[in-house]
Amino acid sequence: MLKDSDRIFQNIYGLKDTSLAGAKAIGDWDGTKKLITKGREWIVDEMKASGLRGRGGAGFGTGMKWSFMPKDSGGRPVFLVINADEGEPGTCKDREILRNEPHKLVEGALLASVGIGAGAAYVYVRGEFFREAEALQRAIDEAYAAGLIGKDACGSGYDFDMYVQLGAGAYICGEESALLQSLEGKKGQPRLKPPFPANVGLYGCPTTVNNVESIAVAPTILRRGAEWFSGFGRENNTGTKLFCISGHVNTPCTVEETMGISLKELIDTHAGGVRGGWDSLKAVIPGGSSTPMIPKAMCETAVMDFDGLKELGTGLGTAAVIVMDQSTDLIRAITRLSRFYSHESCGQCTPCREGTGWMWRMMERMADGNMTVDEIDLLEEVSRQIEGHTICALGDAAAWPIQGLIRHFRNEIEQRIVDRNIIKKAAAGAAA
Ligand code: SF4
Repeated sequence: MLKDSDRIFQNIYGLKDTSLAGAKAIGDWDGTKKLITKGREWIVDEMKASGLRGRGGAGFGTGMKWSFMPKDSGGRPVFLVINADEGEPGTCKDREILRNEPHKLVEGALLASVGIGAGAAYVYVRGEFFREAEALQRAIDEAYAAGLIGKDACGSGYDFDMYVQLGAGAYICGEESALLQSLEGKKGQPRLKPPFPANVGLYGCPTTVNNVESIAVAPTILRRGAEWFSGFGRENNTGTKLFCISGHVNTPCTVEETMGISLKELIDTHAGGVRGGWDSLKAVIPGGSSTPMIPKAMCETAVMDFDGLKELGTGLGTAAVIVMDQSTDLIRAITRLSRFYSHESCGQCTPCREGTGWMWRMMERMADGNMTVDEIDLLEEVSRQIEGHTICALGDAAAWPIQGLIRHFRNEIEQRIVDRNIIKKAAAGAAA
C-alpha cells in the first residue's frame, strides 16, 4: 500500500484547508520560481524521465507530448489546454482535484506552460461541474493576487495567464479536438488528424491538451524528482495514480495508489471489498465504461496498469473501476452503456452515427433474449467494423464493452435466448 507521505494528493478528500494558505501548508507552490528558472528543456526532460503517461485515458507519455511543441511558433501564441470534461462513466477523480486541490492544477499549469512555451492556459470544465469551476476560479484569483501567476509569475520573469471555460455537457467534448472546437465557440465535433494540436490547435496555434491529473501531478514530480516518481510501479507504467472505485463495493472511493497494484488489493484495501465478499464478484470494468469488462477469474490476478490490463484484452483507461457482483444483469448493464454511446455520437461519421444506434437496438433485443445465436456473431462482426473506422475513439468506446461481454459471457447471452424460447413455446402451448 502506498505510504501517506508518498501521496501526491495530500488533500484529495478536502478534509484540510483548500485555500492558497492550505495548499502551501501541504507543499504546493514550494520553490516554484526555482523550477521555472531551470528552464523549458529541463522541465520536459524531467517529465520524460519520470515516465508519466497521460492520465486521461490514452496513456501517451506526457513529457513526450510536451516535447512535440515547436520551439519556434512563428510568432503565433502557444496554448496549454487542460481537459476537465471528465465525462467517462465511472470516472470521478478530476473533479476531486478541482474541488479540493485546485492549486496543484494552477501550479502545474504554470510549469507545464513553461515546458511547452505557452503564455496562457485554458481549463475546459464540464458544465455540470459548476462548483468545481468556482473552486478552481477561486484558486486562480488567489494565485493572481499573490503574484504566483500573471505578469512575472512567481517573480521568475515569465508571463502566464489562466482561464476557466465551462462546457455544455457533451461527452464528445472530452475528445481533445472536439474540446478545442467547443472552446473556439463552435459545435463540439472532433477534427480529422493530422494536423495535430501541437501544430494547429486552439485558434490554429500550437497547443498541448492534457488531462487535469497529468498536469496536477507535474509540480510534485518536478520537486521530488523524476527518479522518485519512476520508483513506483514498473517499467513503462510508473508512478502513482488516482483510482475511482464504484459499483458493488462496500465503500466506493477515489484513492491514490501505486501503478501496478493488484485489482484485488485495490478493492479489498480501499473499497471495503466486494459487496457480499470476493466470491460474489462477477465482473469488473477496469478503466471506465469504454474498456471491456473482465470476469472474476481474470480479476484474481489483474495488475492495474497500462500493460497489465492490455495483456488481459482490456485497458487502464481513466482507472475507473466499476465492480459488478453476481446480482448484476451484465447484458442489461452493457445495453445501458450502448445507449449512452449512441446518444453521445456527434454524428459526423457513418459507422459511429448509424452503428452505435444499431448496436444499441441489438443490445436491447439481446437483453430480452429476443435474438438468434447467429445474431450474436453478427453483432460482434459489426462492432469490429465500427472499431477503428471512425474519426475519433467514440466508435471504439461503443464497440469494446459489447466485445468484452460477448468474449467472456457468451454462455449467459445464449442461455437468455434459450430461456426466452422456452417461455415463448410455453406461452404458445398455453394459447393453443
Ligand atoms: Fe463523431 Fe462518432 Fe465520428 Fe467521433 S466517431 S467523430 S463521435 S461520429
